[in-house]
Amino acid sequence: MLDLTFIRNNPDLVKEAARLKNNPIDIDALLELDRQVINMQQEVDQTRAQQKQLSKQIQQAAKEKNVELRTQLIAEGKQLSERLKALEPELTRLQDERYQMLLLVPNIPDPSAPIGKDEDDNVPIKYWGEKPQFDFEMRDHYELMQHLDLIDIERAVKVAGTRSYALRGDAARLELALIHFALDRLAKEGFMPLIVPSMARDFAFIGNGQFPKGRDQVYEVEDEDLFLVGTAEVSITGMYKDEILKAEELPLRFVGYSPCYRKEAGTYGKDTRGVFRVHQFNKVEQYIICKNDHEESVRWHEQLLRNAEELVQALELPYRVVNVCTGDMGDGKVGMYDLECWVPSENRYRETHSCSYLHDWQARRANIRYRDEDGKLKFVHTLNNTAIASPRILIPLLENHQQADGSVRIPEALRPYMGGQEYIHPKQ
Ligand code: AMP
Repeated sequence: MLDLTFIRNNPDLVKEAARLKNNPIDIDALLELDRQVINMQQEVDQTRAQQKQLSKQIQQAAKEKNVELRTQLIAEGKQLSERLKALEPELTRLQDERYQMLLLVPNIPDPSAPIGKDEDDNVPIKYWGEKPQFDFEMRDHYELMQHLDLIDIERAVKVAGTRSYALRGDAARLELALIHFALDRLAKEGFMPLIVPSMARDFAFIGNGQFPKGRDQVYEVEDEDLFLVGTAEVSITGMYKDEILKAEELPLRFVGYSPCYRKEAGTYGKDTRGVFRVHQFNKVEQYIICKNDHEESVRWHEQLLRNAEELVQALELPYRVVNVCTGDMGDGKVGMYDLECWVPSENRYRETHSCSYLHDWQARRANIRYRDEDGKLKFVHTLNNTAIASPRILIPLLENHQQADGSVRIPEALRPYMGGQEYIHPKQ
């Protein structure tokens, strides 16, 4: 959420941000609503002041035993009360309407972000690793998983419908190994491992920015005020709602694990093969709460990217980093990088990590503040990046490390988490 005063003072900047982010919000309508709130608030305040004045006059008239004046003043008071009775709910309604609109206002993208409409306009800024050259007929991830008995999609679909899967054998172990590996690596960097609730109340989704706009992507738990999170980011933001942190505590750095649930509404027919786009997956997320300082946010943004790169490099996966364009970055972001791993079967890079900084856009929604060194209350800045998301990461992992004999080599960094196992072989 942007500061309302900022929007009042910079309407053109905010309109331009909305345009760059393909966000149809009508900033003029918001400002008109804001004027109505201000006018009505003034009217309410004036009426309350008149009421106060009148009650003093009524007391005075009683003291002076001026019955006629007192009766007249009481009648005037009644009129004022009735006026207030009509105004106050209207003011609340308008304030709520303004708040709901404010929730839809996007953050201002950094001037360094590429301007563009969608993912086709993202700009690659770095390439790492050698793409594998296969001198045998390679398999795609789904063929590999079937060949190595690593997946049971049919029975999973019987249980949970389309975009479901069950990992079997070494794939199940590999997924847990990846999660453990990511948590360990980041814990060593000073990040606090967290296992967070994967159900949350709606305030957590509003705070994080998934509600109201992305509500159609979220599963609701019937008869409970609970929804299934699509990322641990929602839970962590919610955990700090309404808190006032100490400047000395910052930055807070977390590496949070949660199962993630996504409806994937609007993606019918897209990425239907294997486990690229599924309704339930496991993700380890990096999350930072830092001071309200642009340079500090930018430094942590680069660090979060480096952390993800180091994980992917340790997995020996070729990848590229793209600077995400304004139209693809989402409302809350100031800047965003995607890390995309090489998928040989598709002959292209596919997104496996996304790294964002949001200034105080989430913190204002979730009301997360800190007292700075001068005793002033400020909203914190928040940032996040994927550490590992599985099963998607299994796609480049299996495909890039496949061998001529149909086995898959386990990268060295993962072996300690796989009991020293070096290869996944087909079952005899
Ligand atoms: P996001 O929070 O949307 O930036 O996603 C972070 C990462 O989670 C992505 O880069 C993917 O690796 C993974 N991911 C997101 N959505 C899905 C999905 N529907 N199925 C599998 N993995 C996903």
